[in-house]
Amino acid sequence: MKAERTDEAARLEALRQYEILDTEPEAAYDSLAQLAAYICGAPMALVNFIDEHRQWFKAKVGLDVPEMPRNVGLSYLCQERRDIVVVTDTLADEKLAKNPVVTAEPYVRFYAGVPLITPKGDMLGTLCVLDRVPRELSQKQIEALLALSRQVISQLELRRNLAEVSRYAEELEQAETSLRQSEERLKLALKTARLGSWQLDLKTQELSASNQCKLNFGLPPEAEFSYNMLFECIHPEDRAYVQESVKQALENKTDYEAEYRNIWPDGSVHWLLARGRGVDEVNEPARMIGVTLDISERKQVEEEFKRQNRRSQLFAEITVKIRETLQIEEILHTTVTEVQKLLQADRVLIFQLWADGSGTVVQEAVLPGWLAILGQNIVDPCFKKEYLKRYRQGRVSAIEDIESAHIRPCHREFLQQFAVRANLVVPILLREGIWGLLLAHQCATPRRWNSSETELLQQLANQIGIAISQAQSLEKETCYSQELARSNAELEQFAYVASHDLQEPLRMVTSYLQLLEQRYKSKLDANADQFIAYAVDGAHRMQTLINELLNYSRVSTRGQPFVPVDCSTVLKQAIANLQVAIKESGAIVTHDPLPEVIADATQLTQVFQNLISNAIKFRQNLTPQIHIGVVKGGGTDADRESLNVIPAKDEWLFWVRDNGIGIESQYAERIFVIFQRLHGRAKYPGTGIGLAICKKIIERHGGNIWVESEPGQGSIFYFTIPDKAGKQS
Ligand code: ADP
Repeated sequence: MKAERTDEAARLEALRQYEILDTEPEAAYDSLAQLAAYICGAPMALVNFIDEHRQWFKAKVGLDVPEMPRNVGLSYLCQERRDIVVVTDTLADEKLAKNPVVTAEPYVRFYAGVPLITPKGDMLGTLCVLDRVPRELSQKQIEALLALSRQVISQLELRRNLAEVSRYAEELEQAETSLRQSEERLKLALKTARLGSWQLDLKTQELSASNQCKLNFGLPPEAEFSYNMLFECIHPEDRAYVQESVKQALENKTDYEAEYRNIWPDGSVHWLLARGRGVDEVNEPARMIGVTLDISERKQVEEEFKRQNRRSQLFAEITVKIRETLQIEEILHTTVTEVQKLLQADRVLIFQLWADGSGTVVQEAVLPGWLAILGQNIVDPCFKKEYLKRYRQGRVSAIEDIESAHIRPCHREFLQQFAVRANLVVPILLREGIWGLLLAHQCATPRRWNSSETELLQQLANQIGIAISQAQSLEKETCYSQELARSNAELEQFAYVASHDLQEPLRMVTSYLQLLEQRYKSKLDANADQFIAYAVDGAHRMQTLINELLNYSRVSTRGQPFVPVDCSTVLKQAIANLQVAIKESGAIVTHDPLPEVIADATQLTQVFQNLISNAIKFRQNLTPQIHIGVVKGGGTDADRESLNVIPAKDEWLFWVRDNGIGIESQYAERIFVIFQRLHGRAKYPGTGIGLAICKKIIERHGGNIWVESEPGQGSIFYFTIPDKAGKQS
């Protein structure tokens, strides 16, 4: 069943391919039906095709209906047998006698049908003859009927082939149309691309050029055009390059290609792309043929692209410059020079405004031939009144042509003084107000400023504003630190001079007091003895104080150059200087193996001496134990086991540890300030200068000093000395 259904589907598909169903009657089929009726002597004949539901009559003789249901009629017999079927009398067959075409119109008694079978074997329908009376067919008639059925098939085949041919023709036509269209498009493209062609005879230098080629050189089609003329049209700066390109191409037998400018008779400059090739070469090319293409638009786009690039570059450059240096003059100079080049403006300047509304041209880049106004103080009466306010609000002013612009006459006159024809002005703003203006002038011609030019100037003005603000604060800071350094130096000088000059009278006071003491002790009353003792003590203290102060001020003024110093020698010296105190207190001083550092030996001795003497002085009621340790930054963990501090890689960390009274942490910083002491003189004598001297010395060496301590637990004074020797090696 399934196979049959598939066959039927294939048959129906084949039938559809012949595209015959429901078509208009055609003479060829009508004639075949008539012939069949005539040959068989029958009143009715049909050429029918059978689809899913019906028998459709392509040609009919003696019948009026266009089709019949598939189950009505006798064609199915042919379909079943796939061969000629002749029913001489339908009433003789019981089954056929009940067929509606037998029982009713057209009351068929005789039927002879031939299946219409395609070359591929699909049965599409029948060619049949019918009669209302029984009859028989002779062999000749049967053969004729078969022959006619083959004719029907031939007609069908013909029809299909024709259909295919016409489809093909249609496709061809379509292809042709699209070819024609693309040809037209090509022509149009050539025309709009302004592609000209040329041919050059290399021996005679005779040039023949297409009309478009001439147009590309700004010449009318009828113009004479020779090789020499062509060269004259080329921009003088590009001539040598074009000649060289042609020569190279001919020598190397390669294609010639050059992009060059040509100047039209009206003076305008146009870009051309020329391509060519030597031809007819047996040994040497005889001719060169090629094309020229107007690429002015492309060049314009390229130029614009390059300009954009240069703009971003310039912007980046100036921004970097601002970050790197705050040399305002240099920044402003670069700005005007580069902007002038980039905008091809006749003059670019920076105008600094003063409080009274006048201003000075502080930077200028101007093309030769135009008035230079650098350094000029300018007072613009119009400007003062109305423009300043608007510029303060960030307004940008662009004038395309001052002659036609709606500006006040006084403004126009003002600009005319400097031969300005068009200008672009952007304000340079600081947080607190307007600093000045960045201006571009076009003197020769009017000029329309485009948005990217305006934007660039605005961005640059913003950057300049930032740079100026930064420079101003830097200047303030520099002034401040210079002032600080100056007053420090003055103070030092004062301290030095004061202490130095005080020494002499003080020595006199001391020696005379001592004399008084020696001569008159016990000779005056008890009070007098006490007074003398106080005076001597005061004078002594004052001397110590003055000495210390001198030491302090000498740290920076009398420092020795830094040289390699053996720290153990330095420490030995310090201990030797403290011999008496060490002996008296029974202090035990130990130390790690000490390195060589780059330092001022005298000052380093002073540091060790001050720290050890403090460690002895601020002892508790037990034997002072003092240890001097050192570790190099970047050392092993074992080296720093007992340390809370990790020294940096390129420094030495020293410490002086004692078991003395300790210091409360809140005073840890204060003790390094000059004259700061935590105890009364009666208990612990001193001046409060020792640690300040240590701090000054260590800082002169590029290090730091600090203390870690707890009351009653002793103290550790740390200091660092940069390992300059390590760095040099
Ligand atoms: P001076 O020793 O003349 O008082 P310094 O500048 O050397 O002056 O010291 C300042 C103060 O720091 C001392 O008065 C003392 O209070 C405190 N100090 C310094 N070294 C120690 C120490 N090793 N132990 C406890 N306190 C100390």
